[in-house]
Amino acid sequence: MGIVLDGKAIAERIKHELQAELQRLRATPQLRVLYFASPASRIYWEAQRRIAVELGIGTGTSSNPGPPDYRGSIECPTDITLERVAEILDRWNRDPQVHGIFVHQPMPTQIDAARVSALIDPRKDIEGIHPQNSARRFFAKARIGSCTALAVMELIESTGVPLEGAEAVVVGHSEIVGRPVSMLLLDKLATTTICHLGTTRAGRLEDHVRRADVLVVAIGRPRHVKGQWIKPGAVVIDVGINVVDKRVVGDVEFETAKERAGFISPVPGGVGPVTVMMVMKNAIEAYKLQAAA
Ligand code: NAP
Repeated sequence: MGIVLDGKAIAERIKHELQAELQRLRATPQLRVLYFASPASRIYWEAQRRIAVELGIGTGTSSNPGPPDYRGSIECPTDITLERVAEILDRWNRDPQVHGIFVHQPMPTQIDAARVSALIDPRKDIEGIHPQNSARRFFAKARIGSCTALAVMELIESTGVPLEGAEAVVVGHSEIVGRPVSMLLLDKLATTTICHLGTTRAGRLEDHVRRADVLVVAIGRPRHVKGQWIKPGAVVIDVGINVVDKRVVGDVEFETAKERAGFISPVPGGVGPVTVMMVMKNAIEAYKLQAAA
Protein backbone atom coordinates (compact mmCIF):
# COMPACT_ATOMS: atom_id res chain seq x y z
CA MET A 1 0.00 0.00 0.00
CA GLY A 2 1.34 3.41 -1.00
CA ILE A 3 2.31 6.32 1.20
CA VAL A 4 -0.32 9.04 1.17
CA LEU A 5 1.42 12.40 0.70
CA ASP A 6 0.46 14.99 3.29
CA GLY A 7 -0.02 18.26 1.40
CA LYS A 8 -0.87 20.16 4.60
CA ALA A 9 2.41 19.14 6.26
CA ILE A 10 4.41 20.08 3.15
CA ALA A 11 2.59 23.44 3.00
CA GLU A 12 3.36 24.02 6.69
CA ARG A 13 7.06 23.34 6.10
CA ILE A 14 7.11 25.82 3.21
CA LYS A 15 5.23 28.35 5.35
CA HIS A 16 8.01 28.25 7.98
CA GLU A 17 10.61 28.80 5.24
CA LEU A 18 8.65 31.77 3.90
CA GLN A 19 8.23 33.25 7.39
CA ALA A 20 12.01 33.09 7.89
CA GLU A 21 12.58 34.72 4.50
CA LEU A 22 10.12 37.54 5.21
CA GLN A 23 11.82 38.21 8.53
CA ARG A 24 15.17 38.38 6.78
CA LEU A 25 13.79 40.72 4.12
CA ARG A 26 11.90 42.83 6.71
CA ALA A 27 9.27 43.23 4.01
CA THR A 28 5.50 43.20 3.58
CA PRO A 29 4.97 42.18 -0.04
CA GLN A 30 1.61 43.23 -1.40
CA LEU A 31 -0.45 40.69 -3.31
CA ARG A 32 -3.61 41.57 -5.23
CA VAL A 33 -6.12 38.92 -6.21
CA LEU A 34 -8.90 39.41 -8.73
CA TYR A 35 -11.54 36.70 -8.64
CA PHE A 36 -14.95 36.20 -10.14
CA ALA A 37 -17.98 35.62 -7.90
CA SER A 38 -18.47 31.85 -7.61
CA PRO A 39 -18.51 29.48 -4.62
CA ALA A 40 -15.29 27.72 -5.78
CA SER A 41 -13.42 30.99 -6.31
CA ARG A 42 -14.52 32.36 -2.94
CA ILE A 43 -13.23 29.24 -1.18
CA TYR A 44 -9.88 29.56 -3.00
CA TRP A 45 -9.67 33.29 -2.23
CA GLU A 46 -10.45 32.69 1.46
CA ALA A 47 -7.64 30.12 1.62
CA GLN A 48 -5.25 32.58 -0.06
CA ARG A 49 -6.28 35.43 2.26
CA ARG A 50 -5.93 33.29 5.41
CA ILE A 51 -2.39 32.22 4.53
CA ALA A 52 -1.46 35.78 3.48
CA VAL A 53 -2.63 37.02 6.91
CA GLU A 54 -0.60 34.30 8.66
CA LEU A 55 2.52 35.31 6.74
CA GLY A 56 1.97 39.07 6.89
CA ILE A 57 1.59 39.43 3.13
CA GLY A 58 -0.80 42.27 2.27
CA THR A 59 -3.88 41.68 0.15
CA GLY A 60 -5.31 45.17 0.48
CA THR A 61 -8.35 43.97 2.42
CA SER A 62 -9.32 45.57 5.70
CA SER A 63 -8.24 42.67 7.94
CA ASN A 64 -4.80 42.62 6.38
CA PRO A 65 -1.79 44.94 6.11
CA GLY A 66 -1.98 47.24 3.10
CA PRO A 67 -4.23 50.07 1.95
CA PRO A 68 -7.88 49.03 2.53
CA ASP A 69 -9.31 50.92 -0.42
CA TYR A 70 -10.24 50.34 -4.07
CA ARG A 71 -6.70 49.19 -4.72
CA GLY A 72 -7.26 46.03 -2.70
CA SER A 73 -8.03 42.49 -3.89
CA ILE A 74 -11.43 42.40 -5.48
CA GLU A 75 -14.38 40.10 -6.18
CA CYS A 76 -15.79 40.88 -9.61
CA PRO A 77 -19.33 40.15 -10.76
CA THR A 78 -19.46 37.38 -13.36
CA ASP A 79 -20.84 39.84 -15.97
CA ILE A 80 -17.82 42.16 -15.66
CA THR A 81 -16.37 43.42 -18.96
CA LEU A 82 -12.81 42.89 -20.17
CA GLU A 83 -12.40 46.69 -20.18
CA ARG A 84 -13.15 46.87 -16.44
CA VAL A 85 -10.76 43.98 -15.69
CA ALA A 86 -8.11 45.78 -17.77
CA GLU A 87 -8.70 48.98 -15.76
CA ILE A 88 -8.16 47.20 -12.42
CA LEU A 89 -5.04 45.41 -13.67
CA ASP A 90 -3.66 48.67 -15.05
CA ARG A 91 -4.03 50.31 -11.62
CA TRP A 92 -2.21 47.44 -9.94
CA ASN A 93 0.48 47.40 -12.65
CA ARG A 94 1.21 51.09 -12.11
CA ASP A 95 1.08 50.98 -8.30
CA PRO A 96 4.65 50.51 -6.98
CA GLN A 97 3.15 49.26 -3.68
CA VAL A 98 1.67 46.22 -5.46
CA HIS A 99 4.19 43.42 -6.05
CA GLY A 100 2.15 40.39 -7.11
CA ILE A 101 -1.05 39.99 -9.14
CA PHE A 102 -3.12 36.81 -9.34
CA VAL A 103 -6.28 36.42 -11.45
CA HIS A 104 -8.40 33.36 -10.71
CA GLN A 105 -9.31 30.88 -13.44
CA PRO A 106 -11.64 29.82 -14.95
CA MET A 107 -12.79 33.25 -16.09
CA PRO A 108 -16.35 34.10 -17.24
CA THR A 109 -16.93 33.28 -20.91
CA GLN A 110 -16.95 36.94 -22.05
CA ILE A 111 -13.43 37.40 -20.63
CA ASP A 112 -10.62 36.25 -22.90
CA ALA A 113 -8.13 34.61 -20.52
CA ALA A 114 -5.26 34.96 -23.00
CA ARG A 115 -5.86 38.74 -23.21
CA VAL A 116 -5.97 39.02 -19.42
CA SER A 117 -2.65 37.12 -19.15
CA ALA A 118 -1.02 39.66 -21.47
CA LEU A 119 -2.41 42.60 -19.46
CA ILE A 120 -0.57 41.72 -16.24
CA ASP A 121 2.84 43.35 -15.76
CA PRO A 122 5.17 40.34 -16.29
CA ARG A 123 7.20 41.31 -13.20
CA LYS A 124 4.03 41.07 -11.07
CA ASP A 125 2.55 38.00 -12.79
CA ILE A 126 2.80 35.42 -9.99
CA GLU A 127 1.04 32.66 -11.93
CA GLY A 128 3.58 32.89 -14.77
CA ILE A 129 0.88 33.29 -17.44
CA HIS A 130 2.12 36.43 -19.24
CA PRO A 131 3.45 35.42 -22.70
CA GLN A 132 6.92 36.65 -21.70
CA ASN A 133 6.89 34.39 -18.62
CA SER A 134 5.52 31.44 -20.61
CA ALA A 135 8.43 31.89 -23.04
CA ARG A 136 10.94 32.00 -20.16
CA ARG A 137 9.48 28.74 -18.86
CA PHE A 138 9.94 27.19 -22.29
CA PHE A 139 13.64 28.00 -22.12
CA ALA A 140 13.89 26.83 -18.46
CA LYS A 141 14.66 30.39 -17.35
CA ALA A 142 11.56 31.19 -15.28
CA ARG A 143 11.98 32.47 -11.72
CA ILE A 144 8.23 32.51 -11.22
CA GLY A 145 5.96 29.82 -12.61
CA SER A 146 2.49 28.29 -12.35
CA CYS A 147 1.71 27.90 -8.65
CA THR A 148 -0.04 24.56 -9.21
CA ALA A 149 2.82 23.19 -11.31
CA LEU A 150 5.34 24.21 -8.65
CA ALA A 151 3.16 22.56 -6.00
CA VAL A 152 3.12 19.33 -8.02
CA MET A 153 6.93 19.43 -8.19
CA GLU A 154 7.16 20.00 -4.41
CA LEU A 155 5.01 16.91 -3.79
CA ILE A 156 7.08 14.80 -6.18
CA GLU A 157 10.35 16.02 -4.64
CA SER A 158 9.05 15.21 -1.14
CA THR A 159 9.03 11.51 -2.12
CA GLY A 160 12.78 11.49 -2.83
CA VAL A 161 12.12 9.50 -6.03
CA PRO A 162 14.65 10.58 -8.68
CA LEU A 163 13.14 12.09 -11.81
CA GLU A 164 16.10 11.77 -14.16
CA GLY A 165 15.30 9.07 -16.69
CA ALA A 166 11.93 8.29 -15.07
CA GLU A 167 8.87 7.78 -17.27
CA ALA A 168 6.67 10.76 -16.40
CA VAL A 169 3.13 10.92 -17.76
CA VAL A 170 1.05 14.09 -17.47
CA VAL A 171 -2.66 13.79 -18.19
CA GLY A 172 -4.12 17.18 -19.18
CA HIS A 173 -2.39 19.94 -21.14
CA SER A 174 -3.94 23.15 -19.83
CA GLU A 175 -1.89 26.34 -19.79
CA ILE A 176 -1.92 26.65 -16.00
CA VAL A 177 -1.33 23.02 -15.01
CA GLY A 178 -0.54 20.32 -17.58
CA ARG A 179 1.83 22.25 -19.84
CA PRO A 180 3.90 23.96 -17.11
CA VAL A 181 4.18 20.68 -15.13
CA SER A 182 5.41 18.94 -18.28
CA MET A 183 8.10 21.61 -18.78
CA LEU A 184 9.28 21.31 -15.18
CA LEU A 185 9.48 17.51 -15.47
CA LEU A 186 11.42 17.92 -18.70
CA ASP A 187 13.83 20.30 -16.91
CA LYS A 188 14.50 17.44 -14.45
CA LEU A 189 15.31 15.10 -17.36
CA ALA A 190 12.23 12.92 -16.87
CA THR A 191 11.10 11.25 -20.11
CA THR A 192 7.83 13.11 -20.33
CA THR A 193 4.63 12.16 -22.17
CA ILE A 194 1.66 14.52 -22.31
CA CYS A 195 -1.80 12.98 -22.65
CA HIS A 196 -5.05 14.80 -23.42
CA LEU A 197 -8.48 14.34 -24.86
CA GLY A 198 -6.99 13.01 -28.11
CA THR A 199 -5.19 10.28 -26.16
CA THR A 200 -8.43 9.23 -24.49
CA ARG A 201 -10.37 9.31 -27.74
CA ALA A 202 -7.72 7.13 -29.37
CA GLY A 203 -8.19 4.62 -26.51
CA ARG A 204 -4.52 5.01 -25.48
CA LEU A 205 -4.77 6.66 -22.06
CA GLU A 206 -4.61 3.41 -20.08
CA ASP A 207 -1.47 2.27 -21.99
CA HIS A 208 0.36 5.48 -21.13
CA VAL A 209 -0.75 5.53 -17.48
CA ARG A 210 0.31 1.90 -17.02
CA ARG A 211 3.96 2.66 -17.80
CA ALA A 212 4.22 5.85 -15.70
CA ASP A 213 6.80 5.92 -12.90
CA VAL A 214 5.50 9.40 -12.14
CA LEU A 215 1.90 10.24 -13.01
CA VAL A 216 0.34 13.70 -12.80
CA VAL A 217 -3.37 13.97 -13.57
CA ALA A 218 -5.09 17.34 -14.10
CA ILE A 219 -8.24 16.96 -16.19
CA GLY A 220 -11.19 17.76 -13.92
CA ARG A 221 -12.96 14.43 -14.52
CA PRO A 222 -13.90 12.57 -11.32
CA ARG A 223 -12.01 9.26 -10.86
CA HIS A 224 -11.31 9.10 -14.60
CA VAL A 225 -7.95 7.34 -14.11
CA LYS A 226 -8.59 3.87 -12.75
CA GLY A 227 -6.65 2.44 -9.83
CA GLN A 228 -5.93 -0.76 -11.76
CA TRP A 229 -3.98 1.25 -14.37
CA ILE A 230 -1.38 2.47 -11.86
CA LYS A 231 2.11 0.97 -12.23
CA PRO A 232 3.12 -0.70 -8.94
CA GLY A 233 5.30 1.70 -6.93
CA ALA A 234 4.48 4.79 -9.04
CA VAL A 235 4.30 8.34 -7.72
CA VAL A 236 0.74 9.56 -8.36
CA ILE A 237 -0.11 13.25 -8.10
CA ASP A 238 -3.81 14.01 -8.46
CA VAL A 239 -4.50 17.69 -9.20
CA GLY A 240 -8.21 17.32 -10.00
CA ILE A 241 -10.89 18.90 -7.85
CA ASN A 242 -14.40 17.57 -8.51
CA VAL A 243 -17.53 17.58 -6.40
CA VAL A 244 -19.48 14.31 -6.46
CA ASP A 245 -22.44 13.79 -4.08
CA LYS A 246 -21.27 16.85 -2.08
CA ARG A 247 -17.81 15.28 -1.63
CA VAL A 248 -14.59 16.57 -3.16
CA VAL A 249 -12.80 13.88 -5.18
CA GLY A 250 -9.83 13.83 -7.54
CA ASP A 251 -9.30 12.65 -11.10
CA VAL A 252 -7.81 9.34 -9.91
CA GLU A 253 -9.73 6.45 -8.35
CA PHE A 254 -7.99 6.94 -5.01
CA GLU A 255 -8.81 3.81 -2.99
CA THR A 256 -7.68 1.32 -5.62
CA ALA A 257 -4.78 3.48 -6.83
CA LYS A 258 -3.46 3.68 -3.25
CA GLU A 259 -3.07 -0.11 -3.17
CA ARG A 260 -0.67 -0.04 -6.15
CA ALA A 261 1.11 3.33 -5.92
CA GLY A 262 4.36 3.93 -4.04
CA PHE A 263 3.20 7.45 -3.16
CA ILE A 264 -0.13 9.13 -3.86
CA SER A 265 -1.53 12.60 -3.19
CA PRO A 266 -5.08 12.68 -1.81
CA VAL A 267 -7.89 15.04 -2.79
CA PRO A 268 -8.50 17.09 -0.73
CA GLY A 269 -5.33 17.66 1.30
CA GLY A 270 -2.74 17.01 -1.43
CA VAL A 271 -1.87 19.53 -4.15
CA GLY A 272 -4.35 22.21 -2.97
CA PRO A 273 -2.70 23.42 0.28
CA VAL A 274 0.74 23.44 -1.37
CA THR A 275 -0.58 25.48 -4.31
CA VAL A 276 -1.85 28.21 -1.97
CA MET A 277 1.60 28.35 -0.35
CA MET A 278 3.26 28.63 -3.78
CA VAL A 279 1.11 31.69 -4.51
CA MET A 280 2.71 33.31 -1.44
CA LYS A 281 6.18 32.09 -2.41
CA ASN A 282 5.76 33.63 -5.86
CA ALA A 283 4.51 36.91 -4.36
CA ILE A 284 7.71 37.09 -2.29
CA GLU A 285 9.78 36.18 -5.36
CA ALA A 286 8.08 39.00 -7.33
CA TYR A 287 8.79 41.42 -4.46
CA LYS A 288 12.48 40.45 -4.51
CA LEU A 289 12.71 40.87 -8.30
CA GLN A 290 11.19 44.33 -8.09
CA ALA A 291 13.31 45.36 -5.09
CA ALA A 292 16.43 44.31 -6.98
CA ALA A 293 15.50 46.25 -10.15
P1 NAP B 1 -8.74 22.68 -17.86
O1 NAP B 1 -8.18 23.99 -18.26
O2 NAP B 1 -10.20 22.40 -18.04
O3 NAP B 1 -7.91 21.56 -18.66
C1 NAP B 1 -8.28 20.20 -18.57
C2 NAP B 1 -7.32 19.40 -19.41
O4 NAP B 1 -7.70 18.05 -19.33
C3 NAP B 1 -7.32 19.77 -20.89
O5 NAP B 1 -6.00 19.78 -21.34
C4 NAP B 1 -8.14 18.66 -21.53
O6 NAP B 1 -7.68 18.31 -22.82
C5 NAP B 1 -7.81 17.50 -20.64
N1 NAP B 1 -8.91 16.51 -20.62
C6 NAP B 1 -10.22 16.73 -20.42
N2 NAP B 1 -10.89 15.59 -20.46
C7 NAP B 1 -9.99 14.62 -20.72
C8 NAP B 1 -10.07 13.23 -20.87
N3 NAP B 1 -11.25 12.59 -20.78
N4 NAP B 1 -8.93 12.53 -21.10
C9 NAP B 1 -7.75 13.17 -21.19
N5 NAP B 1 -7.60 14.49 -21.05
C10 NAP B 1 -8.71 15.21 -20.81
O7 NAP B 1 -8.44 22.38 -16.33
P2 NAP B 1 -7.17 22.79 -15.40
O8 NAP B 1 -7.26 24.21 -15.05
O9 NAP B 1 -5.92 22.23 -15.97
O10 NAP B 1 -7.58 21.96 -14.10
C11 NAP B 1 -7.66 20.55 -14.12
C12 NAP B 1 -8.21 20.06 -12.77
O11 NAP B 1 -7.31 20.48 -11.75
C13 NAP B 1 -9.56 20.67 -12.38
O12 NAP B 1 -10.27 19.71 -11.64
C14 NAP B 1 -9.20 21.84 -11.49
O13 NAP B 1 -10.23 22.16 -10.57
C15 NAP B 1 -8.00 21.27 -10.78
N6 NAP B 1 -7.06 22.28 -10.28
C16 NAP B 1 -6.56 22.10 -9.03
C17 NAP B 1 -5.64 22.98 -8.51
C18 NAP B 1 -5.09 22.74 -7.15
O14 NAP B 1 -4.39 23.58 -6.62
N7 NAP B 1 -5.32 21.59 -6.55
C19 NAP B 1 -5.21 24.08 -9.27
C20 NAP B 1 -5.70 24.23 -10.58
C21 NAP B 1 -6.62 23.31 -11.08
P3 NAP B 1 -8.24 19.05 -24.15
O15 NAP B 1 -7.82 20.49 -24.02
O16 NAP B 1 -7.54 18.31 -25.22
O17 NAP B 1 -9.73 18.88 -24.10
